Amino acid sequence: MSELVPITVARGDGIGPEIMEATLRVLQAAGARIAPEFIDIGEQQYLAGHSSGIAPEAWESLRRTRVFLKAPITTPQGGGFKSLNVTIRKTLGLYANVRPCVSYAPFVRTLHPKMNLVIVRENEEDLYAGIEHRQTDEVFQCLKLITRPGCEKIVRYAFDYARRHGRRKVTCMTKDNIMKMTDGLFHRVFDEVAREYPEIETEHLIIDIGAARLATRPERFDVIVTPNLYGDILSDIAAELTGSVGLAPSANIGDHVAMFESIHGSAPDIAGKGIANPSGLLLAAVLMLVHIGQPAVAETIHNAWLRTIEDGVHTAELHGSLSIGRPFGSMDFADAVIERLGQRPQKLAAVHYGEVDRDAPVQVARVATVAPHRRAAAAKAMVGVDVFVHAAGVSADFLAGQLSALLTPPFALQMITNRGVKVWPGGFPETFCTDHWRCRFVAPQGQSVTHADIIGLLQGLTARGVDVIKTENLCTFDGERGYALGQGQ
Ligand code: ATP
Repeated sequence: MSELVPITVARGDGIGPEIMEATLRVLQAAGARIAPEFIDIGEQQYLAGHSSGIAPEAWESLRRTRVFLKAPITTPQGGGFKSLNVTIRKTLGLYANVRPCVSYAPFVRTLHPKMNLVIVRENEEDLYAGIEHRQTDEVFQCLKLITRPGCEKIVRYAFDYARRHGRRKVTCMTKDNIMKMTDGLFHRVFDEVAREYPEIETEHLIIDIGAARLATRPERFDVIVTPNLYGDILSDIAAELTGSVGLAPSANIGDHVAMFESIHGSAPDIAGKGIANPSGLLLAAVLMLVHIGQPAVAETIHNAWLRTIEDGVHTAELHGSLSIGRPFGSMDFADAVIERLGQRPQKLAAVHYGEVDRDAPVQVARVATVAPHRRAAAAKAMVGVDVFVHAAGVSADFLAGQLSALLTPPFALQMITNRGVKVWPGGFPETFCTDHWRCRFVAPQGQSVTHADIIGLLQGLTARGVDVIKTENLCTFDGERGYALGQGQ
């Protein structure tokens, strides 16, 4: 028998303590080799003045065990409280959000009985960096950041996940027909990494048609990998389609720490009654056991749970015509799973989690590290600058005239756009314009510019009252253009 693996456990709020007790009871009966350390998170911690719902000393346990089994918490009403999940995700670098979405028809009602897919969502980048600014009276901005290391990590994680779990296809979804640089990078990295996994089928779908197909034919998907915002939306759609949101687990994986939880909340309306379904948390614990290198225990529990469901042992919210007897309480349900340890489902598909190398130290299996490949820096040349200007009640032609009179060498005014639409030269009178103008200044073909050139230009503009909001340098990298052309160009 190998050593016990320390894990950090939080009982949470609402139904959290009940479903955690039921879950740990099953884990213990199944012989999971874990040593739980308990921490307090949630409502009491918020009310005690910890704005993220976690006490400072709890971090020490998380960083030591590196594995977190978390029950749902209640965030108190009112302002000033930060999301605990966002705090943990960002602080500990949990870059992958993994959400299996499975139908359990006919035991759980769904329009899509054959659905069995996994969404791998990038968790740290994209529009979620929280870099937002008000720039003018009329215009607000949120920066979308996509990085090459971030793409490599999440895409490789998705392919590794597919390989480890015997899944045959990985679908990438982006909007790279519009966001050619950011989403284009994600798609490009997907194509690059895919070459290393020739046994896995791949496809790319534009997110809008991808989401539509997911909603109508979810059974055609296997593993889906996607940037943060799309993944956020898709994973809720997919969980809802299964009809069993209350049964769904999720994992947040980082290089150092991983967190496992149910996707439902703390359900205060049924807390303390002993009737909550512990399945979402139990299946999260199954994901955790696979992650820490105990796939055999994970498989035993998962198959016993499937058998329990198909035997008609259901908690109140699932109770229906295929249920036996009265609704089971949380603990009775756990005991029913324990009675079935060692059994396999007969109608639902059984799971198989494979073997782990018995000689491998537990830590190897615990951390799914995917080191991004760091490249040599590209040859970078600055060839111009986009100057964003706040100007209300002016026309593009007027602004172009004003700016052209204030030019300093080596710049020429190449174009002006408003909300990304080219309005000078050759704009259309029908184009609606706000008070926010992007003015592109470039050096003559092939010539590069310096920071001093840009500062000189800005000094000239601002000295004459031009309200410069911000600038973006226009660069080439190894000769390749590092900026989008304006629409209409
Ligand atoms: P949150 O904002 O934390 O997500 P919420 O009330 O919007 O909270 P949930 O806590 O997930 O969402 O609960 C929604 C409803 O689903 C609850 O009122 C409860 O009746 C039911 N529910 C959620 N989880 C369970 C569960 N494990 N077992 C039984 N019913 C549940």
